Amino acid sequence: MTAQLIDGNALSKKIRGEVAERVAALKARGVQPGLAVILVGENPASQVYVKHKVADCEGTGMRSVLERYEPTMSEADLLARVRALNDDPAIHGILVQLPLPSHIDANKVIETISPSKDVDGFHVQSAGALMIGQPGFKPCTPYGCMKMLESIGVSPKGRHAVVIGRSNIVGKPMAMLLLQANATVTICHSGTPDLGAMTRQADIVVAAVGKRNVLTADMVKPGAVVIDVGMNRNDEDKLCGDVDFAGVSQVAGWITPVPGGVGPMTRAMLLVNTIEAAERAAAQAV
Ligand code: NAP
Repeated sequence: MTAQLIDGNALSKKIRGEVAERVAALKARGVQPGLAVILVGENPASQVYVKHKVADCEGTGMRSVLERYEPTMSEADLLARVRALNDDPAIHGILVQLPLPSHIDANKVIETISPSKDVDGFHVQSAGALMIGQPGFKPCTPYGCMKMLESIGVSPKGRHAVVIGRSNIVGKPMAMLLLQANATVTICHSGTPDLGAMTRQADIVVAAVGKRNVLTADMVKPGAVVIDVGMNRNDEDKLCGDVDFAGVSQVAGWITPVPGGVGPMTRAMLLVNTIEAAERAAAQAV
């Protein structure tokens, strides 16, 4: 392997430590930062995710409230819970774990979360703020990827970044953040005819697809930074990303592993957004 590893576990630990210091500072002023996590239904992956989010929160000294509901919960009842949390001054961040059962309109739920508590950064107001360069909550996964670049001292300025994937939660906000940081950005998707022709030009590649081996060694410029957002299972049922790690790590300059790369950074950035929300609320209360 020639590429250097970008260690998401180590970086997220550092970030969690910084959040814990900010939590302690707010507590000293009599404010207990609080995150509410809502889980509707029994999706096994979602149950694991919310468990981690709650534990992460408590690890920094923040309060977390986990609300679990039956899969039959009505949309109206869920919207009423979100509105109640919007009005609760002890809650600074609200996260509704996705996916929701099919009878609930996830967009409607997200748009009901107060933008000031939208710590996932999925609200249309947060997306709009990102688009026009106004302050707002950034979606945790692309925010974490930007922190990874910062940690290795690679500025996107003047570089060509290729983002593979255009979802509202990863690909599009990733591209916007890279653009804001003055990269020249190309967004690829399932309709891109020759993905390799694009990625071979890239100084930075972010793969956010959800398919194994979307990026192979022959598609990477020597020395490029490769960030693998994908979460898939290989033939041995082990977690793997979108990138052929064994091959690409022979060509890239930097690479994120899966697991231990973007995943822990996503969790850490949720904490950053939550403490940010609590600090803003505290500043407004003065
Ligand atoms: P998504 O909504 O399914 O979007 C996938 C994107 O990949 C789409 O834009 C799709 O294009 C594009 N795509 C599909 N096949 C392609 C191909 N062969 N070549 C180029 N582009 C292709 O998924 P997502 O929510 O963005 O998540 C992407 C992956 O990241 C998943 O594995 C997910 O589990 C993982 N993820 C990880 C974290 C983390 O913390 N590590 C967080 C979030 C997501 P079209 O738009 O044309 O369909």
